[in-house]
Amino acid sequence: MSKIKIAELFYSIQGEGRYMGVPSVFLRTFGCNFTCGGFGMPRGEMSAERDAIAERMVEFQDYNELPLVSTGCDSYASWDPRFKDLSPMLETNAIVDRIMQILPHRRWEDEHLVVTGGEPLLGWQRAYPDLLDHDSMHGLKEITFETNGTQKLTPEFKEYLQRWRAQREITFSVSAKLPGSGEKWEEAILPEVVCEYEQVGYTYLKLVVATEQDLADAEQAVEEYRTAGFTGPVYVMPVGGVERVYTLNNRAVAEMAMRKGWRYSDRLQVPLFKNEWGT
Ligand code: SF4
Repeated sequence: MSKIKIAELFYSIQGEGRYMGVPSVFLRTFGCNFTCGGFGMPRGEMSAERDAIAERMVEFQDYNELPLVSTGCDSYASWDPRFKDLSPMLETNAIVDRIMQILPHRRWEDEHLVVTGGEPLLGWQRAYPDLLDHDSMHGLKEITFETNGTQKLTPEFKEYLQRWRAQREITFSVSAKLPGSGEKWEEAILPEVVCEYEQVGYTYLKLVVATEQDLADAEQAVEEYRTAGFTGPVYVMPVGGVERVYTLNNRAVAEMAMRKGWRYSDRLQVPLFKNEWGT
């Protein structure tokens, strides 16, 4: 039986991208290859909010007790090793049991599964077939992997997804990290990886932008993806893990999207639920 280290498992409304507004189970896996300390910071500077929270770690027993951050990665506890004890390693059977408990009808109906992170394609590709082949998961018809677009699919997992896709819908929501995240271009913008996702599922780019410089970076990145053969849609999404930052930015980003002919993705979880853990 495979195991997955689970940062969070909750039921909510998908707030972003293609499935915005759809009731969804979120399976947040632990671990990421990035740290994205640059979000919300002046270019070249890194957020120190996460470090300040880690120093108070003894105060927190559960994800819901963790403070929200206005800079850096807003799901920091799903990959920073200092928070790892909040994330249990669970057998896939146990994960399915929990999923059934949080679905409103104790079975899949119109809900969609979001596998997110951290970076969900980093270490757990081997475990997903066990999870998805469980009898109770057969009613699931739509799954999205929310990825940063840097992890190649293993040949085994790619083949598995191609079979799974025959009767169901797979989506890759690729939040490629632009320089405003603090990550290096050559490590974050990997068009050949994302083109491979397109062979397996509906794939789109979802780029977080805040400034005109971010928009220029997004244009360059999209050009590189297109040159490599990527054909999917492009969304831009405002920065802002907290409402104060999000509302400063969202209209300007919608206007950028219209100018470029790209799609706008909201972050509905911010106005609806304040982006609290578990939403
Ligand atoms: S890739 Fe996503 S989860 Fe990983 S550090 Fe960046 S924002 Fe956070």
